[in-house]
Order: sequence, then C-alpha cells, then structure tokens
Amino acid sequence: MRHDAHGYWIEEAGLEGTPSLPALTEDTVADVLVVGGGYTGLWAAWWIKQEDPDARVVLVEADRCGFGPSGRNGGFVNSMGFSLPTLRRNFGDRAAIEMVHAGDDSVDAIGRWCDEQGVDAWFTRAGYLQASTAPFFDHAWDPVAEACAELGEGGRIEVLDHEGIRARCDSPLFRSAAFYPVAATVQPARLAAGLRERIVEAGVDVHEHTRVDALAERDGGVVATTPGGTVRARSAVLAAGGSLLRFRPLRRSLTVTSSHMVITEPVPDLLEQLGWTGGECITDSRHMVHYFRTTRDGRIAFGWGGGKIVRGANVHGRAEIDPQLTEAVRADLLRFFPGLEGREITHAWGGPIDVSPTHLPVVRSVGERSFAGFGYTGHGVGPSQMVGRALASLALDRRDSFTRLPIVDPPPVSVPPEPFRFAGGAIIRRAIIRKEMAEEQGRRPGPITRIVSGIPELLGIHVGR
Ligand SMILES: Cc1cc2nc3c(=O)[nH]c(=O)nc-3n(C[C@H](O)[C@H](O)[C@H](O)COP(=O)(O)OP(=O)(O)OC[C@H]3O[C@@H](n4cnc5c(N)ncnc54)[C@H](O)[C@@H]3O)c2cc1C
Repeated sequence: MRHDAHGYWIEEAGLEGTPSLPALTEDTVADVLVVGGGYTGLWAAWWIKQEDPDARVVLVEADRCGFGPSGRNGGFVNSMGFSLPTLRRNFGDRAAIEMVHAGDDSVDAIGRWCDEQGVDAWFTRAGYLQASTAPFFDHAWDPVAEACAELGEGGRIEVLDHEGIRARCDSPLFRSAAFYPVAATVQPARLAAGLRERIVEAGVDVHEHTRVDALAERDGGVVATTPGGTVRARSAVLAAGGSLLRFRPLRRSLTVTSSHMVITEPVPDLLEQLGWTGGECITDSRHMVHYFRTTRDGRIAFGWGGGKIVRGANVHGRAEIDPQLTEAVRADLLRFFPGLEGREITHAWGGPIDVSPTHLPVVRSVGERSFAGFGYTGHGVGPSQMVGRALASLALDRRDSFTRLPIVDPPPVSVPPEPFRFAGGAIIRRAIIRKEMAEEQGRRPGPITRIVSGIPELLGIHVGR
C-alpha cells in the first residue's frame, strides 16, 4: 500500500512529476491577488476572468495547485440540502431555501463547466445516500425531511427502507437511508488540474511554490509578501483553506481537523454482488462521518472524518499521514464491506479539514480590500464554485446575487483561542467519537462522554451538518 500525502487521485491524474508553474521571483502588481490554488482560489480566478477579461489576476500557491485537500478529497459534489435545518436556524426560512438552491446550482455549474471546457473530471450525477448503520441513526434525517416538507422542498430527499437501500448497496450494516438526488462525484485531482489549466489559458498569472508569508492593507489596496517578491493588488481573495488560521483576523474563525482515506484495487465483481453499480456516493449518519464512493474502474474509495484536530496553523504532518488512523479506516472499510477481505488496499492518504463554528461555508470581508472563503467542514467540492464566484464579484467591487448570499459576511461566531481550541477540541472530539461508537453498538454513552460531547452546542458551536 502506498501511504503518502498525495494519495490516489493525484497519481491517477498523472500529475506527479509534471512541471510546476514558476515561483514568483520579483515584485509584481495585479488588480486581484488570489492566495491559494485549491478549488476556492481556482474558481475565484476563473470567475474574475469571466467577469472582467482585462483584469490582471495573480494567483500564488504555496505548493502546487490542487495538491492540497482539493486534489485528494472524497470527490462528493454535494448541494446543501442536508444542511437545511442548520441554514434555517442561522438565516431563516427564505434565506435557507435560497442557499440550498444556490448549492444545487453550484453542483450543476461544475458539471456544465466540465462539459463546456472539455475537462474529464469523471463528473457523475448519481445522488447521495445517507445510511443508518444502527437503530440510533434510523431517524437521523428526520429533521431534514421535516424541513423539506415544511418549506415545499420535498423533492430533495427520499427515505429508503431496508430493501430500498440494500437494493442500491448491499452492505450488511445498512438498515435504511435517505437519498438526496442533487449530488455527484468527481475525480477531485482531475477537476483541480482542469481548473488550473483553464485559468492559465484565460491569462491568470499563476505562481506555484510561492507562499504568502504576510498580507497587509496599504494605500487602498493589499501588499502580500512572499519569499521571492511582493504582490501589490487592488484587492485580495484569501483561499488558503485551513492555513487561513495564519492570518490574524481569521484566527478565531475556524478550527482545523483532518480526514483520512483509503482506496481498494479494482473490485468490479464485488460491486456487482453488492448491487452498487449506480455511482451513488454514500455516508453513514455519524457526525464523524464514514464516506465512500466507487470509481470508474470499480474501486471503492473510503474515508473517515474523525481525524485529529490540528494545533494552530500547523496543518502539515499528521493531517496527511497517520498510520494508526489509517488502520482504523481500513478496519471500518471491512466492517462495511466484508467481501473485501483478501482484496488489496492500494493507497492511503489524508488531509486537513477547515471547520467553521456553524459548519457552513463562510465568505468573510477581512479589512477593506481582502475577502476570504473557508469553513466548508468537509463539504467544499460543490459549494466552492459558488463561493469562488462570490469572492470574484467582491474582489471586483461588484454586488450581485452571489455576494448577497446569506453565507457572505454572516454574523461572526468565534472558536476559542489557542491553546483551548486545540486541547479542548481534541477532548471534545474524542468524546464525540466515544459517544457515536456507543450509539452504534446500542449502548448508552457514559455521563462524562455525554456532557463533554455536548459542550460545543453550549458554546454556540454547531456540530453536524
Ligand atoms: C481526505 C479528505 C476528504 C474530503 N472529502 C470531501 C468530499 O468528498 N466532498 C467535499 O465536498 N469535500 C471533501 N473534503 C473537503 C474539500 O476537499 C475542501 O472543502 C475543499 O477542497 C476546500 O478547497 P479550498 O480551495 O478552500 O482549500 P484547499 O484545497 O485547502 O486549498 C488551499 C490551498 O492554499 C494553499 N495555501 C495555503 N497557505 C498558503 C499561503 N500562505 N500562500 C499561498 N498558498 C497557500 C494550499 O497549499 C492549498 O493548495 C475532503 C477533504 C479531505 C482532506
């Protein structure tokens, strides 16, 4: 098994060993500076050039575009339907409906973009299944189904009984499920690589291996310092994922955790046996979610969102490679699909997850001329297109339906400062894992576990979708 930071998708896309774009080696100027070459930054750069082809756009990426979480995630392209109860609570009914429709449009826009741009990112629109794996989770989706019914959005969720879910994927753990039709999968590294190629063609000046070490607002614009030179621009899009913690004004805006994945050798015979040939992406119903999908050549990619919390802004290291967690993920994969016994796991990898206190993505104005997009909480593939588009408009001083979305400059919710964020977060995370394990095994979690796992909600920090 190959266990490294890059994982399967980047290798499959043939990106390893290909040339990087040149690092910045001199001072330069731009209309818009984009910091970070994951989906958020790439989509923002794309939309800036669509809106204003003459704008001079410089994108700087610390590593290579799409080699971070954007190139190594599960590839679930979700809308925001399963967040409807949270959206309602935070923004009210009208705005919640507006958000889920924008989320749907974002999924569609990604598929359309791949078609129009001739980018083969394996975009497959086959819906998303949220399965129950124990009696405790049998009604996990009821709040979503109720919110959908009350808001006239009934078409976005279908409840499947035992036979219904087993007909789509015959895991012995599955009891029932909710099916969300607005969802797709992609090969994540191919999508990121396609975006990188197209923005370069559109005239964006991309510098890889160029890390922004400091950013300041000066003379009505921004100045970014990198090891090779400064970038002066009229405005900046901050799209550095979990590393946004490095920027002082955003330090209390997010927490960084991690998620770890494995992928099997091709097992098309097993997929046939399971009846899992429809291309649906699937999760269980835990907060520390297990997520899995198939690939074109019949592999199962399987991940767990229960990785460790990351201290401060140090997102490199254990977030990517953690042998102990990877072994736990492999064991979980076999629990879901015992037929994989004796089949090879070919790759393992992991990456940081930028978690916002509301568990919803956020577009935040930072000062007068900088705009940040972050906080996807493990669900950024679909919404990043819409967030990138909002950031593009803000950076160009335009106001439109994207900049008016409720996730743009929402009332701030802060996470505790370090060291409480790391130490407290790690204790709470372990309690949630213990609680969910007990619930899955039909046991009542102990009182301390119940109290500790409930602390985030007491602090106004939402845990869940
Ligand atoms: C294992 C795993 C599985 C996941 N599965 C899914 C899934 O199935 N579906 C889903 O929707 N989401 C999933 N996610 C989350 C998803 O990958 C993210 O929400 C999404 O990629 C966020 O994109 P981004 O561009 O905001 O951030 P990133 O992809 O993190 O990109 C940020 C970029 O900024 C660069 N950068 C950082 N600091 C600097 C700096 N100072 N200067 C310049 N550049 C900098 C980084 O190198 C990086 O390339 C998963 C994540 C992981 C780790």
